[in-house]
Amino acid sequence: RSGTPVLSARGLSAGYGDAGPVVRDLDLELWPGEVVTLLGPNGAGKTTTLLALSGALQPRSGVVRWGGQITTAPLHQRARAGLALVPEDKSVIMNLTVRENLRIGRADVGLALETFPELESHLDRRAGLLSGGQQQMVALARALARRPAALLADELSLGLAPRLAERLLGVVRAAADGGLAVLLVEQHVRSALTVADRVIVLRHGQIAWSGSAERAREAPDVLLGAYLPLA
Ligand code: ATP
Repeated sequence: RSGTPVLSARGLSAGYGDAGPVVRDLDLELWPGEVVTLLGPNGAGKTTTLLALSGALQPRSGVVRWGGQITTAPLHQRARAGLALVPEDKSVIMNLTVRENLRIGRADVGLALETFPELESHLDRRAGLLSGGQQQMVALARALARRPAALLADELSLGLAPRLAERLLGVVRAAADGGLAVLLVEQHVRSALTVADRVIVLRHGQIAWSGSAERAREAPDVLLGAYLPLA
């Protein structure tokens, strides 16, 4: 490949408090136009990886680069530079309206509605009154309608009916086809593989397997590694 990854990490280790590291010595790259899916059982360190890459959690060691430049900037600064994080709790503010949620994220409301037209009739409703799926649409629309260069998203399909999950993942795929670099944390291996270009399987905080989505689909043991609970 030519050029520079949007986001990359070398030797990344991260954890919490006095406990040992949760992820150790990770190398990864995220290029424009690709969807990379991070798979792995509960507790493997997927969320921690996402947080350390985003600046929400400062790494213990290793280097994160944004557009080729080493960064230690906190999340809000990286957000201004074009990084979008959709965290596990989706961070939709329940007692603000949908419109207010979009504005707080500095999202282009028109662009958000182009992506999810069904949000239009809910713009002035409090987000807490929407269904879980609609709230997830707000979170994704808010992230994408700032036209980020990279999207890091934690369990977008969690708790959604399969059709809605497909819809959200399809929106992500389309954004990647437009040049966005995407890292998706997913528990649902099957739906993740339908949109991914590449797959990374984490176990015990380290990369247990990585390769193309095509190779992952042909390697049942890889998928097993992504599912099997940690011993
Ligand atoms: P899950 O699907 O369960 O979220 P995951 O692969 O995303 O799993 P992480 O959330 O990164 O895994 O968690 C990995 C380990 O780090 C777990 O043992 C968890 O208990 C621990 N951990 C996660 N968040 C914190 C925190 N805020 N403080 C302390 N320990 C944490």
